[in-house]
Amino acid sequence: LRARSPNHQSENMPSHDRVIQRTASVEQRVEAIQAALDARGMNATDGVEELDHLAQEEWIPQNGARVVARAWVDPAFRDRLLANGREAVAELGFTLPKHHRHLVVLENTATVQNVICCTLCSCTAFTIIGLPPDWYKDLEYRSRVVRESRTVLREMGLDLSPEVEIRVWDTTADTRYMVLPTQPPETIGWPEDKLAEIVTRDSLIG
Ligand code: FE
Repeated sequence: LRARSPNHQSENMPSHDRVIQRTASVEQRVEAIQAALDARGMNATDGVEELDHLAQEEWIPQNGARVVARAWVDPAFRDRLLANGREAVAELGFTLPKHHRHLVVLENTATVQNVICCTLCSCTAFTIIGLPPDWYKDLEYRSRVVRESRTVLREMGLDLSPEVEIRVWDTTADTRYMVLPTQPPETIGWPEDKLAEIVTRDSLIG
């Protein structure tokens, strides 16, 4: 879409130098791409509907919450999860895309707090912990969590004592991470289903 800006007309400047390129809305661009693909027989509409379903119903943090709850109640599963995340989550029926070759599960302890990021863009183990929240994609988070992780975590509501070591893990194309939070002591003995309900998406990020 092209539009001339009425505020920038100048007597000294020919008006064609004042053409501002406006970008069409996301909806208009998506529609145009979908129509172009559909016209070539590539059936983009079905693909978009499928992706929408996956993003809303399948790639959800409740998957990671179930993994955490199982690890809290089953020490042998916890060991398998820490040894090979990809294989262990498959026991619960969860899969990762082929290019997520490794799911590395990072165990928090009383003295170690893990936190994940993707300094380049927005990668997560999205089939397990869900699609990333907006703040995870924010340039501020991606750059600052590496340089001043303690401050960033404090600003986000997690005020760690100085003796807790913070480890920041930068996601790559083929290595995805999930944080295994420590189980709150007051929940020891709870049934697995109830435990899964208290595990949040943010706690899976760290
Ligand atoms: Fe990324």
